[in-house]
Amino acid sequence: MKLCRFDGDRLGLVEGDVVLDVSEALEVLPPVRWPVPLGDPLLLHLDQLISAVERVRESAQRTALAQVVLGSPLSNPSKVMAAPANYRHHVELDTRDAAVDQGVHRKALEGVERPTEKYGLFLKATSAIAGAAQGVQVILPERRTDHEVELAVVIGKQGHGIKRADAMAHVAGYCIGLDMTVRGAEDRSFRKSADSYTVLGPWLVTADEIADPHGLTMSLWVNGERRQHSSTGAMTVDIPDLIAIASSMYTLYPGDVILTGTPEGVGPVVPGDKLRVACEGLGEMTFAVSAHA
Ligand code: MN
Repeated sequence: MKLCRFDGDRLGLVEGDVVLDVSEALEVLPPVRWPVPLGDPLLLHLDQLISAVERVRESAQRTALAQVVLGSPLSNPSKVMAAPANYRHHVELDTRDAAVDQGVHRKALEGVERPTEKYGLFLKATSAIAGAAQGVQVILPERRTDHEVELAVVIGKQGHGIKRADAMAHVAGYCIGLDMTVRGAEDRSFRKSADSYTVLGPWLVTADEIADPHGLTMSLWVNGERRQHSSTGAMTVDIPDLIAIASSMYTLYPGDVILTGTPEGVGPVVPGDKLRVACEGLGEMTFAVSAHA
C-alpha cells in the first residue's frame, strides 16, 4: 500500500496515477493527550489504519496525482537516524572535493571498511522534516548546501537490541529521503538539521511491496541533469545491520526513520534549482529549492 499526505493534511491512497482521499480512515487513530506517546501516530496504528483505508476505499474521492501537492508522509517520528559514509564510491569520489571533505572525512574513513560500525549513526532534528510541497529552503546562503538522496527505512515495530536476523520484521516501509547538508566543520547533527533539510516522500510504501530493498535503482537530478544514480545494493552496511547497530544504542519506535546513506555524486544546490528524485518501487517527486525566508 502507498500512503501519502496531500493538499494540506489529507491522507491519500496512491493507486497508479490517482490519489484516493481516505482521510476518513484517520478516525481510527486515538485522540492524543499529554503525555504524547513516542512515535508517529500513523505507524503506531498502521494495521488498524490499513484496515480502515480498505473500508473507505470504494467511496473515496479520486484526484489525479499530478494535481495534488505532497507533504511528508511522516509527521512525528521520535528520531531520524542517518548512516554516515555508507556508500564506498561516495567516500572515494566525493571526498576529493575539498568542500565536501573539509580536511576530515577522507582521513577519518581511510582503511575503515564499515564506517557505521566504527562511527555509529547520527541524528537529525525531527523539525527538519519536509515534503515535496515545502521543498528545501537554503539556510546560510554564503555556505554550500548539498543534496544527498537516500533510501529511508521506516520502523514499524518497537525494539531494542534487535538482532540482524529479526531486523526486517521491524520495518514497516520505505520512502525516498533527502539528507540535505550544509558543508562545513560543525557536527553533522547541526549541519543537517536546518528546517526542510530532511525531505521525505513522495509517500510511504509498505514493506510488503518491496521484495528486495537492496536492489532498488535510485537517482537524483538537478534542473534535469542527473547527478546521482546507484543501486541501494551498493550500501556498505545493509539495512538489517543498520537496525541492529541503531537499536543497540536506543529503542526504535514506530515511525522512526533510518536514512541509509547516499551514493556518489553529491553536489551543491542553490535557490531556484529544481530537484527530482526517483527510486524503483517508491515513486518519484520533484521539489523546489528556495531561499530561507
Ligand atoms: Mn547522508
